[in-house]
Amino acid sequence: MEALKTMAKLATRKFDVVIVGAGGSGMRASLQLAQAGLNVAVLSKVFPTRSHTVAAQGGIGASLGNMSEDNWHYHFFDTVKGSDWLGDQDAIEFMCREAPKVVYELEHLGMPFDRNADGTIYQRPFGGHTANYGEKPVQRACAAADRTGHALLHTLYQQNVKARTQFFVEWMALDLIRDAEGDVVGVTALEMETGELYILQAKTVLMATGGAGRIFAASTNAFINTGDGLGMAARAGIPLEDMEFWQFHPTGVAGAGVLLTEGCRGEGAILRNCNGEAFMARYAPTLKDLAPRDFVSRSMDQEIKEGRGCGPNKDYVLLDMTHLGTETILKRLPSVFEIGHNFANVDITKEPIPVVPTIHYQMGGIPTNINGQVVVPKDGNPNTIINGLYAVGECSCVSVHGANRLGTNSLLDLVVFGRAAGNHIIDTALKQKNFKDLPADSADRTLARLARLDSARDGEYSQGVANDIRACMQKHAGVFRTQASMDEGVAKIKAIAERVGRIGLKDNSKVFNTARIEALEVENLIEAAQATMISAAARPESRGAHAHNDYPSRDDANWMKHTLWYSEDNRLDYKPVKLQPLTVESVPPKVRTF
Ligand SMILES: Cc1cc2nc3c(=O)[nH]c(=O)nc-3n(C[C@H](O)[C@H](O)[C@H](O)COP(=O)(O)OP(=O)(O)OC[C@H]3O[C@@H](n4cnc5c(N)ncnc54)[C@H](O)[C@@H]3O)c2cc1C
Repeated sequence: MEALKTMAKLATRKFDVVIVGAGGSGMRASLQLAQAGLNVAVLSKVFPTRSHTVAAQGGIGASLGNMSEDNWHYHFFDTVKGSDWLGDQDAIEFMCREAPKVVYELEHLGMPFDRNADGTIYQRPFGGHTANYGEKPVQRACAAADRTGHALLHTLYQQNVKARTQFFVEWMALDLIRDAEGDVVGVTALEMETGELYILQAKTVLMATGGAGRIFAASTNAFINTGDGLGMAARAGIPLEDMEFWQFHPTGVAGAGVLLTEGCRGEGAILRNCNGEAFMARYAPTLKDLAPRDFVSRSMDQEIKEGRGCGPNKDYVLLDMTHLGTETILKRLPSVFEIGHNFANVDITKEPIPVVPTIHYQMGGIPTNINGQVVVPKDGNPNTIINGLYAVGECSCVSVHGANRLGTNSLLDLVVFGRAAGNHIIDTALKQKNFKDLPADSADRTLARLARLDSARDGEYSQGVANDIRACMQKHAGVFRTQASMDEGVAKIKAIAERVGRIGLKDNSKVFNTARIEALEVENLIEAAQATMISAAARPESRGAHAHNDYPSRDDANWMKHTLWYSEDNRLDYKPVKLQPLTVESVPPKVRTF
């Protein structure tokens, strides 16, 4: 009765599909749906073209073969190997086969790719992408200078405006609404400008909230990347998959965290230690600086540990682009040139720039199948579909990236699975489906969270707690991990989680109360952080980005399986990796050398 009373006060709006997130994945899905005539709402904490996708620099992978011989089988092989055999091979095959189609589609939607002299799309080499099954680097990254994400996101936004997608800008989704059968029937959301809470009822909800890179102190990610979708899923009883696998990008500007795209090395940049040595040749004789990111980050860390770092504290290495020539740099890497000036006071045409491995990308997320449908273990089936819920993009785990993502495969993942999810929703004849009833307690969880924040006037300060989360993750879930350090991290993060429950607001005003928004974000950060720390401490092997000093080898016999972390009691479960692709032979596991 009480629940009904509170619900009656909340305004409710109805849509065929509510999409949470207006990055590349959300807007690729919304475009498909709006073009099919569905009533689609897209929510975003920021203006759509400010989503983190806008910051993607290097490129989008597709085996077009415009500049060197290539085909999707090579791309498939590289992605399976890059994933350190944790990727699901059905999803990887689907993505690599679809890649040329979705890239040409983007081209036809108006995306301004760089061009070759013959008019075809320019493609640059990228880490871990090879021809002939690892023999030599291939040119597969389709690029618009070093602003590929910018070009992609603006193209999608414009097409969505044309298709009449409805955008809810500066709206923050807070919780998923599930009915008694466990189906998802909508979300609660806060209009940030007014502070009003709404129920958005939907036949289908699609999560596209991006990554949670802000759980770490040194990150290339935007401030809005607080893992809200992960928090929403976790609170709604949905597990998070493979959260122990976080990618460190080798080349964040030392001290600033801002990214220098792998496209730099794609164009020929070289990593050097304090002796001026191009050290990657020692670690990866074939691919050298273009080995996959986990490999390069570890090699850099090793150089620094062994005393060959640069600078007064010997705590970074150098990325040298001086030999590329000013013309190439200004044409192919104009943003990198600016970043050098603005964040390191370095003219990259004249001197090398200090870099360190920096947190960049979450390989794990909300578990889905290749249609984007969210799947959970139930009644003996590890992949039971949750009706009414989809997830795509960085917040999801389909899993094409496994234990380590190859550069350019994320932008690809956004458009391939954004499109596939859109098509699948259309195929389920959503327009003809009825709305399910909203349960009486639809908004109770959210109302309780808001009430708790408002009442704890003298509670913990949210940014203090957030900083402690970041410091803990940085220290205990870094490039190299040890059991002792991870166990300590688990204890610390659980203690911080208790403090999250005591966060309070000094200012309870409604209009654009950014303190309230940040406090709500911390409740999402903590779910992503706990998932990461607890999943990591429970994996006694080294695979992809999870480099365990006490267990330096991969253990396929026992650990070729996906982790599932549940928020309730920090429970862990596991499910098998899908080793069978759709139509081709699977790539059998072997040791990764480059
Ligand atoms: C600096 C940088 C460079 C990169 N370069 C490349 C590259 O060259 N190639 C490549 O393949 N990948 C690259 N990546 C990775 C890739 O860009 C990202 O993985 C991808 O863009 C994520 O897209 P997304 O659609 O999942 O989410 P995002 O683009 O992060 O968008 C998330 C959306 O969700 C919204 N949102 C979040 N929470 C809420 C909420 N509670 N309520 C409402 N809305 C919400 C946000 O407002 C935003 O609109 C790069 C990443 C970074 C950080």
